[in-house]
Amino acid sequence: MDAGKTSLDIVRSVSDLRGKVRGWRAAGETVGLVPTMGALHDGHFSLVEASLTGTDRTCVTLFVNPKQFGEGEDFEVYPRDEATDAQALAARGAHLLFAPGVKDMYPEGFASSVSVPGIGDVLEGEFRPGFFTGVATVVTKLLLQALPDKAYFGEKDYQQLCVIRRMTADLDIPVEIVGCPIVRESDGLALSSRNAYLSADEREVAPALHQVLQETASRVSGGADPAAAGEDGAAALRQRGFAKVDYISVRDAETLAVPDGSDRPLRVLGAAWLGRTRLIDNIAIDC
Ligand code: AMP
Repeated sequence: MDAGKTSLDIVRSVSDLRGKVRGWRAAGETVGLVPTMGALHDGHFSLVEASLTGTDRTCVTLFVNPKQFGEGEDFEVYPRDEATDAQALAARGAHLLFAPGVKDMYPEGFASSVSVPGIGDVLEGEFRPGFFTGVATVVTKLLLQALPDKAYFGEKDYQQLCVIRRMTADLDIPVEIVGCPIVRESDGLALSSRNAYLSADEREVAPALHQVLQETASRVSGGADPAAAGEDGAAALRQRGFAKVDYISVRDAETLAVPDGSDRPLRVLGAAWLGRTRLIDNIAIDC
């Protein structure tokens, strides 16, 4: 390992973060931001690699954001291992880890929020009310705290990426949002920190989500009605062992509106439960 790759700085306050970024800016360097909730895996590392390639300095953020977890969701048990994450980031050559505490991000009296109605209300927004307001609020804060040139997000959370693009455009936040492809296991399961919750039996069934999305996409490419293909996909997923399917839905790839028959790009998105674990995934539809 290159000795230079072990010098990862860790900061926890906004003023320390800004001090680091100021130093880079003074040296004429560009800055990439990679927001995460930790429990890092190769999906996260692909964003880090993209940032290292696309900018001079890479800041990864690690913050399990309470505002994006609903009641009864897994905030308390969400996997946390900052030391392991920091070591892995150092080995990959990231320059800075910003790991604030909840009080740093939401001090006493914190009252504001950012919401993105419409695109943030459908699909995930319907099944997880308040989720995208939590995401948009924390991402706005992170972008304003670091003021990076580019910020990197995975297509794994495709609707989140669309919401963040909408929000940064609407609010004139001066950052380029870079979307990165989904990293998958060899059997197609999209990498996720939540995959750790799956039992051995559930893990066997899990790749069916990706398979059903592929089948749905190829049916729509072949001319099938998008709504009917989505409903059939949900039924197929139940048959393959998913206890509950929140949605399999074909949408406009940019606005996430229901397709109107025009030739705009489409995407199929899905969310379904294996036991107590909720998996999400999506793929592009070739037209
Ligand atoms: P999270 O820690 O789950 O909030 O994810 C942080 C970032 O990593 C988000 O932009 C995710 O979309 C991205 N990400 C998570 N899993 C993957 C994956 N399998 N492939 C690509 N990006 C991912």
